[in-house]
Amino acid sequence: NRVDNPYAGAKVYVNPEWSAKAAAEPGGAKVANQPTGVWLDRIAAIQGVNGGMGLRDHLDEALRQKGNGELAIQLVIYNLPGRDCAALASNGELGPTEIGRYQREYIDPIAAILADPKYKGLRIVTTVEIDSLPNLVTNVTPRPTATPNCDVMKANGNYVKGVGYALAKLGAVPNVYNYVDAGHHGWLGWDDNFGASAQIFKQAATAEGSTVANVHGFIVNTANYSALKEDHFTINDTVGGQSVRTSKWIDWNRYTDELSFAQAMRAELIRIGFSPNLGMLIDTSRNGWGGAARPTGPGAQTNVDTYVNGGRYDRRIHLGNWCNQAGAGLGERPKANPEPGIDAYVWMKPPGESDGSSKAIPNNEGKGFDRMCDPTYTGNPRNNNNMSGALPDAPVSGHWFSAQFQELLKNAHPAL
Ligand code: BGC
Repeated sequence: NRVDNPYAGAKVYVNPEWSAKAAAEPGGAKVANQPTGVWLDRIAAIQGVNGGMGLRDHLDEALRQKGNGELAIQLVIYNLPGRDCAALASNGELGPTEIGRYQREYIDPIAAILADPKYKGLRIVTTVEIDSLPNLVTNVTPRPTATPNCDVMKANGNYVKGVGYALAKLGAVPNVYNYVDAGHHGWLGWDDNFGASAQIFKQAATAEGSTVANVHGFIVNTANYSALKEDHFTINDTVGGQSVRTSKWIDWNRYTDELSFAQAMRAELIRIGFSPNLGMLIDTSRNGWGGAARPTGPGAQTNVDTYVNGGRYDRRIHLGNWCNQAGAGLGERPKANPEPGIDAYVWMKPPGESDGSSKAIPNNEGKGFDRMCDPTYTGNPRNNNNMSGALPDAPVSGHWFSAQFQELLKNAHPAL
């Protein structure tokens, strides 16, 4: 009895805690009523951290916001053992072997709350384990981008088991809509990552008693900055007989933006056995790239690099940069059914919440210091040794970062 698209004809839950922070910022009132994701980023978040709202508080408030209409609430399931194996900024509380605690202390209690009949009228969207499974393809030996932690998570199988378990348990609740994280084009858009990641998604979707029927769709670009639609060039363009795929920016990728990637990934997932009704979500919270630096036309046809660099909206130094990107702006406002195959544009990453601290900051959340968040860092193989492009003076991931919020407002596209 699930509907095809939980966003169609429904309001989407406004998280009062995020809303209050946004509203307290100069200019923030313009977006404070937008729906954003509720991140269950540790076991304690189920009850509420530091006196904040827990899962039941959010669901009760969701019932209130729903009134007599339909409402979708967006939860982010984010606490895998050995979390964030290719980076440090969002390392979590569970060590690589703690799959038992993940299942019993994290997924089981969440599933039990969601199954409370009181909440059966809500459409509960769960986005499952951001930035995890693709690491098992792209950041493992023998790739030059391998990390020891990702090798461990591949060898012990706990990402695959954890996602399978989460999908099975949450998918057993009839009004839950599972969307698995599928990275973004600047990560999985290369031929050697694309099909192999789809295969890992299927492996996870059929692990621990789950079946592909537990997957309603996939989400791309969560907490990333990849542009939705590059209008000034396509992947098929050539300059002086040379494909734009040879440009430094595209670097042989098969896609130029999130919309084309999401639609192609959807087709691939259906091809390998997921539901033909699969719906995609695109996180547009921070991929607007508006403001004064936004190109208004194609780049000069001097060579592929001038052409692509002059025309691209995405102003990052390198596509592999992911932390608190300077120059970013709010993207498309959340909306249902924006394009074929796309269930919704969503703001899963709450704008204004940091991706990671610019320097080491002691904390009790398991969060590390990743130099990709340090503006002076010159990079690693995962961003082809480029500068990080991060804003300075950022707090630990998930904490409020006023300067970034202000920048996102300023560079919003569409403008506010
Ligand atoms: C952090 C989480 C946080 C989320 C949303 C992630 O990078 O690790 O703790 O809840 O971002 O801001």
